[in-house]
Amino acid sequence: MKHGCRTLAWPSNQPVETLSDEALAELNARFAASDAAAGIEIGEAFEPFNQMNDMFTRAFWDDDVRSKDTDAFFDSYRSASSPRRAEGFTQKDFALRNASWIVSNLLSNRNNDDGEREGFQAPIRYDTPVAETKVTVDDPHEQASEIKSLARMFGADLVGVTEIDPRWHYSARVDTRNFSPVANDLPEGLTHVIVMGHAMDEDLVATYPSALAGAATGMEYSHEAAIVIQLAAYIRNLGYEAVPSMNDTALVIPYAVKAGLGEYGRNQMVITPEFGPRVRFSKIFTSLPLASDAPKPFGIRAYCDICTKCADACPPKALPFGPPQEDNDSTSTIKGVKKWSADCEKCFGYWAKLKSDCAICMRVCPFNQSKSTLYGRLFHAVATSKFRKVALYLETKRGMAARLKPGQWWLRLRGGMTGTLSDRQRLDR
Ligand code: SF4
Ligand code: SF4
Repeated sequence: MKHGCRTLAWPSNQPVETLSDEALAELNARFAASDAAAGIEIGEAFEPFNQMNDMFTRAFWDDDVRSKDTDAFFDSYRSASSPRRAEGFTQKDFALRNASWIVSNLLSNRNNDDGEREGFQAPIRYDTPVAETKVTVDDPHEQASEIKSLARMFGADLVGVTEIDPRWHYSARVDTRNFSPVANDLPEGLTHVIVMGHAMDEDLVATYPSALAGAATGMEYSHEAAIVIQLAAYIRNLGYEAVPSMNDTALVIPYAVKAGLGEYGRNQMVITPEFGPRVRFSKIFTSLPLASDAPKPFGIRAYCDICTKCADACPPKALPFGPPQEDNDSTSTIKGVKKWSADCEKCFGYWAKLKSDCAICMRVCPFNQSKSTLYGRLFHAVATSKFRKVALYLETKRGMAARLKPGQWWLRLRGGMTGTLSDRQRLDR
């Protein structure tokens, strides 16, 4: 992620591709039913998001964002050479986090010379040619079922399928040689997106905020890099297009919700029935004939309407307390979508000070708790029912989920830690 010391000015005079009014109206009409089922509300001001405006890209060209702290944040992922004394931020903590990212980094950096940070600011280049002969797909439902099983075999924890929807594709991606916008092109003929969820390590997430916890993020990026490449190579060998993708090319949250993997929460994360918000998502754009899944709302919106735990716990107060809004001042928020949106500048400013990612809002979310405990099962069942206020009452009495001290995490590791934190009943909390 390292860049030179030059501050780059953008917007440049390079055009970005945006949807025409007619194309947008056609997409809004075509997806009206599934938008409603997914809780997606699009307003007049909608425009596709330009990746130049995402926080991690702005930190390289926008003087309002870039600072010594943001430079040091990115540098810290290269070398654990500026550790602190604080528990969770020692050299070992940074070392483990950086090691967890390494496979993802190897992939992302291989075409730096072409300005393509694959998996983040460019789709992953596919090394496998599309086979000249196509296997016949008689039944898209059977094909989808087979692809989902294979995705799980390669290591995905959750898989769903939805249709390509250009509204969620970046109007421009980023040339990382000079941080300028370039066309966000995909091959012709793509019809579907396979969306995969990758569960983050529960014990590491329990140590947020810490550099140690960042290992939970890095591990899943490294895992998902391998999984999307493998599954895309399989599809290409079947004779169909498949573009492996991580955070690049399109917003994954609407795709994950549309593919039925979870529901959008106040903490700006997709909350899944299986892992709560403790999931990262990857995707493959493909022309393989597949049956689509439908959104599966399960009560998160209604619970988040009455809960503010994530917003209460956020140190820089970057999360909203009120209902979803369409208006948001942040340059890094998509325009014209009514939703809960963070103050991205405040959030990333806090990350930069930590020199690691913060996901306190993930850790404290009650849907993060495992269903392996009686209380966990009770909470999930009641919170997603019409008795949700009872769950809120129980959670209010319970208070914020305590942070697992990073030192304790290391102690447990040395003692031969096995099982998950909830399996061990979180005895020391
Ligand atoms: S990641 Fe941290 S700073 Fe950002 S919204 Fe969540 S709790 Fe707040
Ligand atoms: S902490 Fe509460 S409000 Fe925030 S995402 Fe979780 S359930 Fe929703």
